[in-house]
Amino acid sequence: MLQVQELVKHFGGIRAVDGVSFEVAAGECVALIGPNGAGKSTCFACIAGQYPLTGGRILWNGQALEKLAPAARLRHGVARTFQVAQVFEALTVLQNVQLAVQASRAQNAISAFKPLDRQSVGAARALLDQTGLGASDGEDVANLAYGAKKRLELAIALAAAPRLLLLDEPAAGLAEAERASLMQLVKTLAGQGMAVLYTEHNMDAVAGVADRVLVLIEGRIAAQGSFDAISRDAEVRRLYLGDGLEADGDGADARGAAHA
Ligand code: ADP
Ligand code: MG
Repeated sequence: MLQVQELVKHFGGIRAVDGVSFEVAAGECVALIGPNGAGKSTCFACIAGQYPLTGGRILWNGQALEKLAPAARLRHGVARTFQVAQVFEALTVLQNVQLAVQASRAQNAISAFKPLDRQSVGAARALLDQTGLGASDGEDVANLAYGAKKRLELAIALAAAPRLLLLDEPAAGLAEAERASLMQLVKTLAGQGMAVLYTEHNMDAVAGVADRVLVLIEGRIAAQGSFDAISRDAEVRRLYLGDGLEADGDGADARGAAHA
């Protein structure tokens, strides 16, 4: 289980994250939502190790993560994706995932300067099949459609066999149908026992997907609960979702994007 306790991250005078506590259990799919600038990506960076904390604690299965480098956190099963996909454009889809598989086996950071070995092909192909990219294996990443790039980033994260998966806007920029199928894949991963924490602005990627929703506003958790419960929360509606979103209506409105 992930335990975030009184997490604080300030950038000079900016209180990006200002005392945030929550937990994510194995098998749980939790959405972290909130307006742009609320501190969602900063939370992810603190959990995955890109930023040192200003204060607070982060525990994963009882182990303190905050002193560990990102690669060491990855060895403990903590993997993340980024709001803007981080992939090697000059390589093929398969080669990108091969490098990730090899890095995971050697317990190294992923590098485009490592030689590719044949032993990583099988595992890489399995990850491409799992993420719906099996038919795109030979394509250069530079030519890949945006949605396929987001799937590739997920395949790269899965190469580390994570137990905690942090997905920063995994479906950003995708059309509705593609977003729905990607989010079903994310939900399936949680169903297989992974702890999943993700951010998203489109409420159709939260309703029916997240087991629980955390609403982050100005660096603090303003509300948490089921999607239906937070959609009824007057404060959340005023500060983020707006009055266009009716959780107890026919659901049509809940497919809109929240105010960003
Ligand atoms: P979100 O992902 O919810 O949109 P962010 O975590 O990216 O929000 O940003 C939260 C706040 O922290 C914003 O005010 C942002 O400008 C600020 N911030 C984020 N990263 C940095 C940084 N590296 N240096 C300075 N300020 C930052
Ligand atoms: Mg962000």
